Amino acid sequence: MLSSLPVTEISGIGEKMAEELSLLGIYTVEDFLFHFPFRYDMNEIKPITELQHNEKVTIVGKVVTEPSLTFFGRKKSRATVTLEVDYVAIKAIFFNQAFIKRQLQVGDTVTVTGKWDEHRLQITVSHYKKGTMKSSDAIQPVYPLKGKLTLNQLRKGMKAALHTYKTNIEEILPESFLINYKLPKRADGLQQMHFPENRILLKHAKRRFIYEELLLFQLKMQLLRKRKKEASVGNALQIQKDKVLQFIESLPFQLTNAQTKALNEIMADLRDPFRMNRLLQGDVGSGKTAVAAVGLYAAVTANKQGALMVPTEILAEQHYESLSQLFKGQAKVALLTGSVKGKKRRELAAQITKHEVDIVVGTHALIQEDVQFADLGFVIVDEQHRFGVEQRRVLRDKGLHPDVLFMTATPIPRTMAISAFGDMDVSVIDEMPEGRKPVETYWVKDNMLSRVLNFIMKEVNNGHQAYVICPLIEESDKLDIQNAVDVYHQLREYFPEEIQVGLMHGRLHSDEKDAVMKEFANNDIQVLVSTTVVEVGVNVPNATIMVIYDAERFGLSQLHQLRGRVGRGDAQSFCILLADPKSETGRERMRIMTETTDGFQLSEEDLKLRGPGDFFGTKQSGLPQFKVADLVQDYRALETARNDAAELVQSGQFFKDSSFSKLRKIVENDPYVKGQILD
Ligand code: ADP
Ligand code: MG
Repeated sequence: MLSSLPVTEISGIGEKMAEELSLLGIYTVEDFLFHFPFRYDMNEIKPITELQHNEKVTIVGKVVTEPSLTFFGRKKSRATVTLEVDYVAIKAIFFNQAFIKRQLQVGDTVTVTGKWDEHRLQITVSHYKKGTMKSSDAIQPVYPLKGKLTLNQLRKGMKAALHTYKTNIEEILPESFLINYKLPKRADGLQQMHFPENRILLKHAKRRFIYEELLLFQLKMQLLRKRKKEASVGNALQIQKDKVLQFIESLPFQLTNAQTKALNEIMADLRDPFRMNRLLQGDVGSGKTAVAAVGLYAAVTANKQGALMVPTEILAEQHYESLSQLFKGQAKVALLTGSVKGKKRRELAAQITKHEVDIVVGTHALIQEDVQFADLGFVIVDEQHRFGVEQRRVLRDKGLHPDVLFMTATPIPRTMAISAFGDMDVSVIDEMPEGRKPVETYWVKDNMLSRVLNFIMKEVNNGHQAYVICPLIEESDKLDIQNAVDVYHQLREYFPEEIQVGLMHGRLHSDEKDAVMKEFANNDIQVLVSTTVVEVGVNVPNATIMVIYDAERFGLSQLHQLRGRVGRGDAQSFCILLADPKSETGRERMRIMTETTDGFQLSEEDLKLRGPGDFFGTKQSGLPQFKVADLVQDYRALETARNDAAELVQSGQFFKDSSFSKLRKIVENDPYVKGQILD
């Protein structure tokens, strides 16, 4: 087994080199063989007519003039040689390589690599070699190196390793996969990864290892998911379908197709005996709450209680009101937050315990000590990133195993969702209810501020309200951050007295925040200056303007969340980004914001601009580090691998068919799969 042979078994690799290799995490022959280049330098020889100006190119030519040499300064020199290439004379310039004069003679053939100047037909040579280049030199692999290890040592070692062990490299993919996807065999692919013969063979080799890596990753995910599900204690809810359909009929609108699809997925989870572990994603205003309401109602028809848990009191109140309206007495809904105290709280707790209440909406208060549900069947957690594993643990510790649905308005790019939530089911509402007016978005420079403020004034005079968002509170970064307190004072100065300006920031106590939000919701405040604390879920349909100071400081997803605070009523809404971005990426971000209101598209763009590590913070996301695959670039392969893995695991073929035995062994030996702790 190559995985148990130490690298020193490879001829030419001794203890010293083994030590250097260990810095790269390479200990065995297998580790070594699978240490892939991270880049390939292409030195392919192309006809002169195909060379790109200012690009690095490689040319083969015949020396037709004696090198002429000029010195300048003490050590600097410049040698010029005329080469004939395909009957064209070009100039090759060598800086500080005076020895050229002796080395190159008229009639010699030489291969030169360097920067091409199309206009002067001239190449500034960085590297040359007498004679024609071997085709295998055309593609130069570049490896990650550490310590004293050199590229040459590594390549020599690799040659020896492949020579000795290539025949021992076992295929792990079934033959049928190789045929279907036209992938090279593992051993051949490996050879090409290290010593590519040409671009095409290299491309197929990469394709193979990308697919292999992603398939293994997805198989692990699917396996974990299956185990988690089978080990879960859940309830099979006896939902009364006709009642649920009636309820859907009674809604003041028709569900969108996306809502219906998500709902069907949720209901199937409620009915089956496993515990639900599902994430519902949908843009702000896509109708998640409506879906939640039907889901909760379905649980009620099965004689279960339901709970909707949200991060703030304001949100709890808003949801309570909208659910009460939707249910119109068809289920008994209660509100339980930190402000429900004393006798009222005791009474409510008693009602919950006696199942006199069907659905409880609240903050984390609803999973506290004194609240004991009679029969909790379904819990929905809104804005899941604010709640964590902790709340789930509390539920479980209370002996409750309800189905749990997480909802989020933070769109996660499809590619990321597949990877990050591979062991979670995901439903997506990717369609907005009809008739929504998209928020008009403008990007303006800081010097337009007074025009923006006048615009706010005009809208306020028409009865509307505005948010003004500032990035940070107080002068932590004195130089250029507008702080909310300053802006608040400025706006109070600027606007006439009848326009009330409010201030909201993270250093306020939660009851102070709630008080400010209530005033805004009641239109006692017309302009709310705030930090990003208004980001989550707040619904004030009368607000039509969102102004964001220093917009370039926010990520696209965050800007999108903020923009989602407006455009919730019938009136046309506006989002104004005040920004003077210094970088092209910054300007690109502003442009994208003005061009689309689709949260998923924005999150994909964000991912492209920031890269996957940054997007989630790799540690927090638990995303694995891939060797060859790139989750953004290789998303097609990722989707294919995901579908293949899901089918193999769900159909059971993966466990029965002997052609998967090698893959099975690798997956089952994965430490994560082995040691998985069920939550
Ligand atoms: P989310 O929770 O995803 O932000 P909501 O469920 O709060 O979205 O819905 C936003 C608004 O759209 C609410 O006023 C809701 O009544 C309305 N709504 C939801 N679904 C539909 C639909 N299918 N057609 C029309 N309006 C809808
Ligand atoms: Mg909502």
